[in-house]
Amino acid sequence: MIGAKRKTIAAERIAGVIGNDFVTIHETDALLTSVDAWPLSLAKIRAGELIPFADIVAYPHNVEEVSQILAICSELEIPVTPVGGGAGSCGGIIPVYGGLHLDLKRMNRIIGIDHDSMVVRVEAGVVGIDLEEHVNRFGYTTGHTPTSLRASNVGGFLATRSGGSMSSLYGKIEDMTLGLQVVIPDGSIIECKAVPRHSVGPDLKQVFIGSEGTLGVITEATLQLFPIPEERRFRSMCFPDITSGLDAIRSIFRAGIRPSVVRLYDETDTAMSIAPHFEVDDESCMLLLAFDGSRERVALDEQQSANICQAHGAQDYGDGPSRRWWEHRYDMYYPSKFLTSGYSIADTIDVVATYDRLERVYWSMKEAMESEGAIVLCHFSHMYLHGGSMYMIFFSSQPDAESLWSTYERIWHAGIEACHKEGGVMSHQHGVGLTRSTYTEDELGSSFHVLKMIKQALDPKGIMNPGKLGMGVQK
Ligand SMILES: Cc1cc2nc3c(=O)[nH]c(=O)nc-3n(C[C@H](O)[C@H](O)[C@H](O)COP(=O)(O)OP(=O)(O)OC[C@H]3O[C@@H](n4cnc5c(N)ncnc54)[C@H](O)[C@@H]3O)c2cc1C
Repeated sequence: MIGAKRKTIAAERIAGVIGNDFVTIHETDALLTSVDAWPLSLAKIRAGELIPFADIVAYPHNVEEVSQILAICSELEIPVTPVGGGAGSCGGIIPVYGGLHLDLKRMNRIIGIDHDSMVVRVEAGVVGIDLEEHVNRFGYTTGHTPTSLRASNVGGFLATRSGGSMSSLYGKIEDMTLGLQVVIPDGSIIECKAVPRHSVGPDLKQVFIGSEGTLGVITEATLQLFPIPEERRFRSMCFPDITSGLDAIRSIFRAGIRPSVVRLYDETDTAMSIAPHFEVDDESCMLLLAFDGSRERVALDEQQSANICQAHGAQDYGDGPSRRWWEHRYDMYYPSKFLTSGYSIADTIDVVATYDRLERVYWSMKEAMESEGAIVLCHFSHMYLHGGSMYMIFFSSQPDAESLWSTYERIWHAGIEACHKEGGVMSHQHGVGLTRSTYTEDELGSSFHVLKMIKQALDPKGIMNPGKLGMGVQK
């Protein structure tokens, strides 16, 4: 908390910029914006705990207002936490030192589509589904469809380096971003021009993409579009184990095929997610594939992939399981059916590794997390030519709140430690937030120093989202 006097001065000055209707110091408003989808904070709230909340919440309407607000906060040394859709899963928007919550939801204009270049310019507050549906009307797709599509916005996608379910074909948000506008902490507005690439020094967009609000506020982006594919086909293949499934995926990529969806479920996840709907042998591992493109291309890729899978011992399940997943992929989340209830909790540690380490990371994390009492299931998705990510999903139930929280922290710690031991990286797409903040220095090793120097140069007063990305603990 920033103290009553500073709070009043800051709120009045911010109201002078954006009007009284768009700034609030009411605790109920502040509490509402403080919560994201981090399972631990939701469990704590359910048990009657108060989590940190902001002193002031402001809803700017354009980049000039964001600029003036940051200049005020910089002068008064008030912490600023940007808020996107508020669906982050790691506590990234929790304002651990209070201050200002800068909620960008009013900055939701789709500025325009350039049909020649097939790009769209948008403000950061546009919700993913609104953008996707808008461009669909013109025959395009963004290709960016994370499961949080209905809840997160473009600024949040960019700030966390998010990845959509079809990322193996269309890429991740950082691949799709041609131009970026950011307001840095002193209030300066900086532009990275929209071009497919350049060689004028480093690509500065990438400094801000993934910076989780610690270096500035992303206010606008120019994103690639793709034609809606002529054909989308689904295929499902069931393997005797994850080793043969991963081998098949690697061979599919080496053959030059880029499925839009690649999801390999381990035996526990197959038993929980697939077996209730399709007859599968115990201990088998289901691979879901989808292919996007022209009719001829898709038919060829699908057949070739099926041949590769069968050569690796897979049984062909046709399009059923894969199509079913596609049609029901949002069901579990809107409203959330499993995240938390009573003294039980579920969460996901999304990690990434090259193929030579991927399976070792899996076994090591599974063993470590299970040894802390977790039920662990996993699917490998977001696959590449050189490796891929996996979602280590865990559940735990405990007799009371305190043991739930401490068990949860031990499971996370065991999982991250095992991931690091085997050479994996601790997040593929969910970001750091609070869950991984204390591990960031270890993860980045000597390059953490560079991140700290960038932070010091851009944000010498440490006002931007302090306590996140392992940086910026406020005095
Ligand atoms: C049900 C569910 C499904 C999910 N599925 C996926 C998935 O498929 N793929 C995936 O990658 N993630 C997924 N996530 C995680 C999360 O939704 C994404 O990471 C998303 O990108 C967060 O966006 P948001 O707008 O909700 O961000 P928020 O939660 O509002 O913010 C996240 C972080 O970004 C910062 N931030 C937000 N906006 C800005 C801005 N304009 N400028 C600077 N910093 C900013 C915040 O300060 C915070 O640190 C899922 C989450 C849920 C709850």
